[in-house]
Amino acid sequence: MLKKLSVLGAGLMGVMTLFAFLFPYLYRMQSLYPPYFIAYALICAVAFTLAQKHRWVRLATASALILVTAAFGMHLGIFYTLNGNANLYMVFLIILPMLFITTPVFTRCFAFVVCAVFSVLTFLFKDVAHYEIDITNCWVSYVISMFGTYMINTVRMENIDARRRLYDEALIDGLTQLNNRRAFNAYMETLHPRLLTNAVRVTAYMIDIDIFKLFNDTYGHIEGDACLIELGRIFGELAKEHDLFIARYGGEEFIAISTDAALDAPALGEKIVRAVFDERMPFALSPYGCVTVSVGCADSRAGGGSNDFDLVNNADMALYYAKEHGRNRFSMFGA
Ligand code: GH3
Ligand code: MG
Ligand code: MG
Repeated sequence: MLKKLSVLGAGLMGVMTLFAFLFPYLYRMQSLYPPYFIAYALICAVAFTLAQKHRWVRLATASALILVTAAFGMHLGIFYTLNGNANLYMVFLIILPMLFITTPVFTRCFAFVVCAVFSVLTFLFKDVAHYEIDITNCWVSYVISMFGTYMINTVRMENIDARRRLYDEALIDGLTQLNNRRAFNAYMETLHPRLLTNAVRVTAYMIDIDIFKLFNDTYGHIEGDACLIELGRIFGELAKEHDLFIARYGGEEFIAISTDAALDAPALGEKIVRAVFDERMPFALSPYGCVTVSVGCADSRAGGGSNDFDLVNNADMALYYAKEHGRNRFSMFGA
């Protein structure tokens, strides 16, 4: 934004300077445009170099840009049109605040100060026939500009909100409202470098609903979905309690990740299995009489894998072990 505006200022003033020297009817503007062209060109140079590196230079350059623009507006609107009206300046007053996405209060206050200074100078330097019109136009422009700025910023905020919602939805599983597979992949990518250097202990729990196909066949997919939602709620609560990252890995499988260095991995695994069993969701054909899950766990510090691919694979192997040994149980890779 800063770069674009400074280029716009320098370009506009450059063209006007050229015109002032080319066209006789603009000759008297030869003393007006060149200094502003130089000022904008300097701002432009800073915006493309130093302002990239330091935040305070960026702020100073943005302030300089606004002040030079305000000064140019007053110069043109008062001292170059002493015997006329500052029509062009009004266009400035209306459009300029709309270009900024700063805090609306700041924009409003700044424009107010500019209008106040303009009104006082106009009153002091122009004759009554011109200052009455200019001052009235100035405040009418202020009101129009503030209304326009408000409308534009409202639309901008709505767009930002909609984009953020879309982004969030892309990472959330529509059924369980837990993180989805894409969110899991993104999360593991953030852990990956620290996992490779063993700088973090990562414990992965693969959770799979037992004989869920039979559950669907018995009660139908609608009941199956309700069961997934209920399990999602249980896992969400456990995740909050133990500071876990939990995601629906796919189908009837969930994955939980802990980065707690002091975690008692088997105890948490057993707790997950028990939490589902204790809900006693009816499942007549299950050997346990209710919905159960099996959990396989791999721990990066206990040889469970030094990258996310190995961790998931090893947690899967532990899960199969739990399935083979009766389901409704927890198994630890390498134990
Ligand atoms: P196991 O104990 O060995 O895991 O047996 P299982 O029946 O759970 O395993 P299998 O992989 O054979 O079946 C998984 C079932 O999960 C099949 C599918 O109908 C069901 N499933 C997967 N996603 C959904 C879903 O979103 N909604 C419902 N209702 N069912 C789902
Ligand atoms: Mg499965
Ligand atoms: Mg299953």
